[in-house]
Amino acid sequence: MTADAYLVILCDGADCPEPEGHWPVRFEPHTHRELRRLLKKHRGWRRTRDGRDLCPNHA
Ligand SMILES: [Zn+2]
Repeated sequence: MTADAYLVILCDGADCPEPEGHWPVRFEPHTHRELRRLLKKHRGWRRTRDGRDLCPNHA
């Protein structure tokens, strides 16, 4: 079993100090779409119209 497997999205902002966005496994996001929804709602991440992911530092 790969207990440490978890979904990650990366910030596309320039020189990001904290480029990885992920979510605790117990909430079980199964898709990147669901992960983005959680990060947007709770962490302030954004998905731009041209398909880039931006963390709260760049939003
Ligand atoms: Zn960033």
